[in-house]
Amino acid sequence: MREASSRRVRIAWAGFWVLGLILLGGAGMGAERLAAPASVSAGDSPAEGPSAGYRSQLERIWLAPGASLEERGLGLRRRALALGADNLDSPARALIAAEPDDQELVRRQLAVALAPDLPLAHTALGAAYWSRGELGRALGSFGESFFSIPRHLEASVWLVGSLLLILASVLVTGSLVFIFASGFLGFGRAAHDAGDLVSRRMPAFARTALLSAVVGVPLVLGEGLLGVACVFLVIATVYGRALDRAVLIGAVALFLVGLYPSLQAGGKLLMSLNADPLASAALALIRGSETPQQLALLLEADRTNDPLVARTLAIRARRLGRNEEAAGRLQQIVRDAPADPFALAILGNISFEAGRTREAIEFYEAGVRGEGESAELMFDLSQAYAKVFRMEDGEFAMARAQAINGATVAEFLHFGDSNFVADPPFPIAPIRSRMVAAASGQPMVTAVLRTLAPGRLGEQPRYAAGALALAVLLGLFIQGRFQHAGGCVRCGRRICARCDGEIWSTELCGACHHLFHKPQETDAALREVRIEVLQAREDRLEKVGVISSILLPGVAGLRAKRPDLALAALYLFAAAGFFVLWRDGVVPDPLAVGAGGSFVLGVAAFLVSVVYLGVLFASLISWRRD
Ligand SMILES: [Zn+2]
Ligand SMILES: [Zn+2]
Repeated sequence: MREASSRRVRIAWAGFWVLGLILLGGAGMGAERLAAPASVSAGDSPAEGPSAGYRSQLERIWLAPGASLEERGLGLRRRALALGADNLDSPARALIAAEPDDQELVRRQLAVALAPDLPLAHTALGAAYWSRGELGRALGSFGESFFSIPRHLEASVWLVGSLLLILASVLVTGSLVFIFASGFLGFGRAAHDAGDLVSRRMPAFARTALLSAVVGVPLVLGEGLLGVACVFLVIATVYGRALDRAVLIGAVALFLVGLYPSLQAGGKLLMSLNADPLASAALALIRGSETPQQLALLLEADRTNDPLVARTLAIRARRLGRNEEAAGRLQQIVRDAPADPFALAILGNISFEAGRTREAIEFYEAGVRGEGESAELMFDLSQAYAKVFRMEDGEFAMARAQAINGATVAEFLHFGDSNFVADPPFPIAPIRSRMVAAASGQPMVTAVLRTLAPGRLGEQPRYAAGALALAVLLGLFIQGRFQHAGGCVRCGRRICARCDGEIWSTELCGACHHLFHKPQETDAALREVRIEVLQAREDRLEKVGVISSILLPGVAGLRAKRPDLALAALYLFAAAGFFVLWRDGVVPDPLAVGAGGSFVLGVAAFLVSVVYLGVLFASLISWRRD
């Protein structure tokens, strides 16, 4: 069942795969372009118009002929910071993907400098340190590849989406297996009681066949696995004890939590990276990896007054060195949102770079008065104050900038250039919310639900929830209304008040009662033989029980009459299995996470396995104590 549903899930992801590959292909193309100086025509001089043949000034610096890797890298980083391009994933990926040589470590250090939020870059740097034997630095980089995941949009979406889908799979499969196992435990007694409804003389195999036919009804009606689970849920509720019923209700609730909020949210997140083509194009352009198609899409949307498109195209103009076009677009943004600190800071920088320092200060101050200060805005303001000899104001602004983000300001100050100003980085949060808003997790829920329940129950999550709730209510309703058949704990014989006339207890048959509690009424020799047979049966059952407790998750808990431990063991076992199965993520890594993601999921698999062994051990101990 797990395989079938995961196959279906994989089919549902096929579309995502294709889109992902297109996206990766695009990123790869961008990378090649940045990596291959051969694509530059010989006549282009780097000093000429920045847009001649290049996608941005950054590309021009990167492809500068004759310069060393380090020169190009430092020049690129400096210009990137000035343009607010604090993460250039595309050149970073190109540096990582290059053929290994003696420059490998330098290249990977540069990749981290160009894209400090890209987990893949930290992983690659860690691997380079590792191969040189610098284990401390390697571990530091591997740690950073993990801690940078929340800062990177695609990486965080991929990891959280994968974790939610794994959680959903665990809750759905663990709960279903528990319901089936609990129903199976009551199946023999239920078969006997169902047979009594027809005839007391019905042989045991006919009773089993009768109940099996009832269980098969949902299959005939096309309700699939979930329909059968409902019948097992009724049996489990009727024949369970109070604790069993409480845990069954918990399992049903967690099944629904897995199906609805969890699966739905995970699907929504993983779909979101490609859900809004304009947002994806904007993100690619900001990262320096847009495809010609993405650029065309953005230019086409220029007329629609989309604020994200307007900002993105302003940034593109700025990166191409077309400051007049950029200023025009930014002024349009400021007309709509007069306090926009992002637009005001860049407008200020354009004025500052053109030598109009007083005008720049007006823009900066408007930005500070507006929606707040950023490290870049306060740094730029400080530089402008210094230019007009307002030293005290300058120092105050610099102190604010350092208080907001000391590391960034230290990098700016390192250039030691009184003409350096930095554009603020493009705000990623609006892109993320647009992507998530455009995506839907419903196709995922529908695909899984249709696999589990191809009939009416699977049409809507609330139908499935209603059917499961009805099954529990039906079980609670009928459980106290008739005398349940039992089974002898000593010999396994069926015990039934209707068929046997008088009974001693639901757990001990008449023969065993006499054998163990009234020994004076039985023949001593026969008694010894009988007890020996029963002892052999007990030994055999114990062996089978211990082996199956260790091999089959949940059996130990059920055997110890601890359904809570059984359910926990099923969830933990499923979690360990799915973490291993999906150790590379439920969908391919969007070329952002690298080995760091597999490491996270591998650690999760290990921790979950340890807890599983703990629960198994507790179950075995609990059985021993009984
Ligand atoms: Zn017995
Ligand atoms: Zn009976």
